[in-house]
Amino acid sequence: MTEPCDVAIVGYGPVGQTLAILLGQRGRSVVVLEKQPAAYPLPRAVHFDDEVARILQAAGVGAELPRLTEPALVYEWRNAAGETLLRIGRGGMGLSGWPDSSMFSQPDLERVLDARAQALPTVRVRRGCEVVDLRSDSTGIELAVARADGHRETVRARWVVGCDGANSFVRRHLGSAVTDLGFFFDWLIVDVVPRERRVWTPINWQLCDPARPTTVVSGGPGRRRWEFMRLPGESVADLNSEATAWRLLAPWGMTPDTASLERHALYTFQARWVDQWRKGRCLLAGDAAHQMPPFAGQGMCAGVRDAANLAWKLDLVLGGLAPDTLLDTYASERVAQVRQVVAFSIELGRVICVADPAEAAARDAAMMAAVKERGPTPPLPTPAIGPGLLVDGDPLAGHLFPQGEVRRGAATGRFDDVVGRGFTLVSPVADPASRLAPELAAFFASLGGVSAHVAPGAPVHDLHGTYARWFAENGVGVVLQRPDFHVFGTAPAIDGAATLVGRLRSALEGST
Ligand SMILES: Cc1cc2nc3c(=O)[nH]c(=O)nc-3n(C[C@H](O)[C@H](O)[C@H](O)COP(=O)(O)OP(=O)(O)OC[C@H]3O[C@@H](n4cnc5c(N)ncnc54)[C@H](O)[C@@H]3O)c2cc1C
Repeated sequence: MTEPCDVAIVGYGPVGQTLAILLGQRGRSVVVLEKQPAAYPLPRAVHFDDEVARILQAAGVGAELPRLTEPALVYEWRNAAGETLLRIGRGGMGLSGWPDSSMFSQPDLERVLDARAQALPTVRVRRGCEVVDLRSDSTGIELAVARADGHRETVRARWVVGCDGANSFVRRHLGSAVTDLGFFFDWLIVDVVPRERRVWTPINWQLCDPARPTTVVSGGPGRRRWEFMRLPGESVADLNSEATAWRLLAPWGMTPDTASLERHALYTFQARWVDQWRKGRCLLAGDAAHQMPPFAGQGMCAGVRDAANLAWKLDLVLGGLAPDTLLDTYASERVAQVRQVVAFSIELGRVICVADPAEAAARDAAMMAAVKERGPTPPLPTPAIGPGLLVDGDPLAGHLFPQGEVRRGAATGRFDDVVGRGFTLVSPVADPASRLAPELAAFFASLGGVSAHVAPGAPVHDLHGTYARWFAENGVGVVLQRPDFHVFGTAPAIDGAATLVGRLRSALEGST
């Protein structure tokens, strides 16, 4: 049986789910093929950042986030004596209009994303369907599917995205080379539901004790996560048992009387990415394309960013509004950022994974001196994306544009919900669309472009001065934001709106 669809997504983890929703919301026909008959029930990721929250907002689940998450204002690192080595956090909203850090339980988030995806009329989610072969021709790809009931079938799609996780079949099929930084450490992950609610201060922290490097964080509302590093000379079997989990939890007041153990599992964290994210009609996203140690809480975040970058590009290509070379910018933009995030996660890991007391003492002395001098460290901004569909030479291009709270008419809320999203022109001076000649305005409208005059007292009232500050600090009069919230380009005066839209049109025609 053949089922022609716009996009077949292989794998229904959080990345496949987000991509399915973002494409389905654009009216694209999507078939998701997931080999497991049921969702993975145990926690993995526990942290996402403000940009990911904004992407989830775009995926239609923003209203659920306060219920699903616990904001984490501080991430503190302490040594064995309890002295502070590092304090990350400024205790507020991130640039994207959501808390800098949100703690959550991955199965809870996946449940909400699943409900959203299943509610979209053009998205079909098929569980118990393992993709076992792929064959491309000039108009599409045939996916051979082995069903859990023993039957085989064929699904036909114009594009395929492998969101099939760390052991990706699609990646192996493409034969993509992998860059592996060779950073391996084993950690025992223990998820606990304490019987009594308690305030944890700080909510998230690292115990940099060479006797047992330990991570102690929220696992979302009502849950806690401990991560214990395997020490030199300790065997995997020694560490990975329920008895060991309880023994290591006991000093933290967690016993079978005070908590239930949701699970324990030993993970070997890796640091690697694929060099080729696209081959013909096949693309990779999420863990299929990159894996990193969890110390920055960025693995799933990077995958959700992949989905946000890819969805609008696939939509434009499917709609005939851009050539398929636009999809090459997906890889060039994403891999450059992923490399930096992996490197940062390793840097954190190198500081944390120290089991030698002398090395730890030297580290502590250097870090304590720095923290006294510098005070709390603001969360590191996500690095800019790499070269791609951006205005060359504009230092703001490729960075995120903020989302603030606004009022328009009777509606008050986050900009994207009140005004809209997609390609967005924003100016603090006037409505930038008023500076577009009819032909350019028609092109912008064909993309579903949004235009807004945002300022205190303007038709879109800038409630907390978020936009006024950004425009003033950057000396900008107009910005063109992409559907994934990155700046395409800026101009010092509002009349530059026409140049920006003209450059977008040329870039899409040529797809740089
Ligand atoms: C202990 C731990 C802590 C972590 N903490 C964080 C954190 O705090 N923040 C963060 O951002 N990330 C974190 N991560 C990483 C995060 O969990 C992953 O990056 C994320 O789950 C990857 O999502 P994915 O959708 O790419 O892949 P997955 O969730 O692995 O989903 C892939 C899916 O593809 C399916 N599949 C595979 N092959 C096939 C096939 N041939 N046909 C059909 N289906 C197939 C699989 O069954 C699976 O359901 C953590 C990970 C671990 C293990």
